[in-house]
Amino acid sequence: MSEFEVVRSLPEDWTRAIVVVAHPDDIEYGCASAVARWTDQGKDVRYVLATSGEAGIAGLPPAQCGPLREDEERRSAAVVGVTHVEFLGHRDGQLEAGLALRRDLAAAIRRHRPDVVVTMFFGHAWRPDDDAADAPPDGGVSRQALPDGGFVNSADHRALGVTVLDAVADAANEWIFPELAEQGLAPWPGVHWIAVSGPGRYAVDVSDYVEAGVASLEQHARYLEALGPEPVAVRARDQVEAVTRRRRGFDAEHAVTFALYRA
Ligand SMILES: [Zn+2]
Repeated sequence: MSEFEVVRSLPEDWTRAIVVVAHPDDIEYGCASAVARWTDQGKDVRYVLATSGEAGIAGLPPAQCGPLREDEERRSAAVVGVTHVEFLGHRDGQLEAGLALRRDLAAAIRRHRPDVVVTMFFGHAWRPDDDAADAPPDGGVSRQALPDGGFVNSADHRALGVTVLDAVADAANEWIFPELAEQGLAPWPGVHWIAVSGPGRYAVDVSDYVEAGVASLEQHARYLEALGPEPVAVRARDQVEAVTRRRRGFDAEHAVTFALYRA
């Protein structure tokens, strides 16, 4: 098998997905272009955010920042055809991969009953130049030793991602959080797989959805303005074009990559 056969198309034979992340803007750094493609296909995609990103803007107190960032996220979602956006109210910057988050994520999975759960890269660090064909198949675990350094992934991202994997199993099991059934949330064993956005051997052709992705990220205007003097439109385009660049071994002008975990 040559290296050019390594990257495969992400399966699209499903109807409903939830995208589960830690913060407003996490989805918009590339994944939103795939979401735009999926909603264009008529799929039902919904967002679940563990926090409101209220600790994300220097100089802006959380009580003011949280509602502002929720509003930016809702507008980002609308740009790519997502109308259902849910915030679980965990504290930004202090997410813990523990039972409280597992229970809340399991409850969300039971509420929405998705076929697919999408989340974000949760390794300890990432390297922006990584190519899909060079990436480990597990999307994160192999990178945790940091042999070559890279950008440190946030504590929230690490906690969130690994908890999503656990919560999918919890959502299916009637005995782990029995209080959820008492609240009317029946077990949901219908998740086929979990897609982790980041390095991986599955790709989505987003050639027709780069502009939607840029427009989606641009909605985080207040957040992006706080990062530096560069105009929001320039910053958004640079970021999305980098994440949706052509991948070696995948025949598409623009692509985003995922690691797939079987549920
Ligand atoms: Zn984040």
